Amino acid sequence: MDLTSYAELAVLLVNRAEDLSSLDTLRALLEETGRTESAARVNRRDLDALRELREELTDVFESASTGDEADVVERLNGLLVRHPVHPQISGHDGQAWHMHLTEGGRVADALAVGSVMGLASVVTGLGADRLGICQATPCRNAYLDTSSNRSRRYCSERCASRANVAAYRARQNKRNGQGQ
Ligand SMILES: [Zn+2]
Ligand SMILES: [Zn+2]
Repeated sequence: MDLTSYAELAVLLVNRAEDLSSLDTLRALLEETGRTESAARVNRRDLDALRELREELTDVFESASTGDEADVVERLNGLLVRHPVHPQISGHDGQAWHMHLTEGGRVADALAVGSVMGLASVVTGLGADRLGICQATPCRNAYLDTSSNRSRRYCSERCASRANVAAYRARQNKRNGQGQ
């Protein structure tokens, strides 16, 4: 079981705040990401719990982006206590036996366990500096840095090129200002 891939779920929850605005948009998000079964039974309590979880996951990424690794670990440890793993071996849909982190229970619990275990796995396996917040203001999206040289600073290609254009303009303005 590749726990690291679960960390993408945390990124998704942090970055898709607008999809947590209503039950309908949350259902659409779950369907879009292949969680059809969860989409069918998600309810308002799940929505409230996921909004709260999103705040807490955002704080983890914010701490990581400022380099406060002790705070990252403390926050994740708190989340691990509140979202215990209930692993089960599953072999549904003709698949080989594989692990599920949490069977049954509420949709929000399963998503919380997955995203928190995913982040914990990244921090312990790859390093807390792999979690970041996009540096292209005003974007505050979270990202996972899986580059070999830990060079990632933006959530997307779009933000990277926007930041490059802004930096270029700033240099131009400075040059023009000096010329006068
Ligand atoms: Zn499965
Ligand atoms: Zn961004």
